[in-house]
Amino acid sequence: MQSPFNTERLSRELTNLMERTRDRQLRLAVTGLSQAGKTAFLTSLVNQLRHAGLEAQLDLLPAAREGRLLGAQRLTQPDLGVPRFPYDAALSALNAKPPRWPEPTRGISELRLQLRYRPAQRGWLTPEFSHLTLDLFDYPGEWLLDLPMLAHDFDSWCQAQTQHNGVHRQALFSAWQTGVEQLDPAAEADEAQLADLAAAYADGLKQAKQAGFSDLQPGRFLLPGELDGAPVLQFFPLPDIELSTEQRQALPENSVYATLAKRFRYYQQHIVKPFYRDHFRRFDRQIVLVDVLGALNAGPERFEDLSRALQQLMHSFDYGQRSLLTRLFSPRIDRLAIAATKADHVTPDQHGNLVRLLEGLLAEPLKDLRFADIPVKALSLAAIRATQAREVNQQGQRLAALYGTTLEGEEVLIYPGDVPARLPDEHFWQQQGFDFPHFRPMGSSHEALAHIRMDAAIDWLLGDKLA
Ligand code: GDP
Repeated sequence: MQSPFNTERLSRELTNLMERTRDRQLRLAVTGLSQAGKTAFLTSLVNQLRHAGLEAQLDLLPAAREGRLLGAQRLTQPDLGVPRFPYDAALSALNAKPPRWPEPTRGISELRLQLRYRPAQRGWLTPEFSHLTLDLFDYPGEWLLDLPMLAHDFDSWCQAQTQHNGVHRQALFSAWQTGVEQLDPAAEADEAQLADLAAAYADGLKQAKQAGFSDLQPGRFLLPGELDGAPVLQFFPLPDIELSTEQRQALPENSVYATLAKRFRYYQQHIVKPFYRDHFRRFDRQIVLVDVLGALNAGPERFEDLSRALQQLMHSFDYGQRSLLTRLFSPRIDRLAIAATKADHVTPDQHGNLVRLLEGLLAEPLKDLRFADIPVKALSLAAIRATQAREVNQQGQRLAALYGTTLEGEEVLIYPGDVPARLPDEHFWQQQGFDFPHFRPMGSSHEALAHIRMDAAIDWLLGDKLA
């Protein structure tokens, strides 16, 4: 008979134990451009984990399906300088009468959870219960749009910014454009004038954001937080400077050109870099949320723009040996999810197309990620489901439909349209288009929030840590 104390098994048990100790902590970051659904996602994530083991529907997460995930408790976060994610306020909004969407967060925020679970396989040394400390971060995807700024000097950045020449977009910057055309780069800088023009530029960016554009730099102009009004945010690109490099460099320090170039460098060093160095570099896993349906709803120019913004944003996950990011910060994200949010805006038969469309939008970055051997998964989800899938009978045919309440309180039963499986072409925009209303959340009255595929997202992001 074989002794139970064989050395092979003992060493396997010890390795497991060490693994478990090492894996006790995970830093998971959630990002996306504003309105992508970050606040809703993080609220739902915390809510699902807290209700795991109770009534949360998490069948796609093995630890929950097998009854091993016992729940999650909030702990005091370690980074005292980072605002706490306002989970309670978000839940109160969702449970208000009538229910409201939570106020979106504006900068980085954090929440620490401790998950309690029963390990899948018990051995001599495995304790009955294990814990995973989960640090959740939420930060604006707009900040990632600034990464390419680190590869530019002021001149090449100005050139890059003048490449945005869509008619609609240019019109939004017309106030700034008129002012900047009269500005002489060699003249002595007038602080008040630069502040006004910077405000006009920021205004253009904000209007462009509202109109559904996403490829917008500098990102902090959109969400300035505590930097609102600070001189570091008082710069803008100078279009068409008719001076040679030597002439520009010879301009005095107090010239318009030198002042703007100096602020640009300060922004690079003191705003863009510290975010990557102090936060981004330390994330273990990341989910990038994309409002694909919102862009489809907004029309071809915004959809194109979202595509450009995503290409840029995804550079922050390009870990090729020679990438700017790797050289500067050596990040360590080892797993990535990209998710098309608000999937409850389309009928379930369209969810497959939604994922394919997301993959189409991110085709190039996905290739780079696979090449760099970073595991990545694309999925569609609704963090907080606001509609119910129904079937309607139309002339003897059963058709998929959605039932929900609009933000204005009207109950509707609609078919919002087909999601194209590939990047939409001219024909799609002319013939088909896409139209859906915004829905009011359903409220949860202290039960787990209804969702679509949050469990699949949780499994991909941390399921392996609950084995
Ligand atoms: P953030 O700016 O990225 O934090 O975006 P939010 O989480 O605030 O979401 C922006 C808006 O999108 C919300 O106010 C809702 O109107 C909508 N939204 C977000 N998630 C969902 C979802 O899962 N389903 C539906 N129907 N709407 C959502």
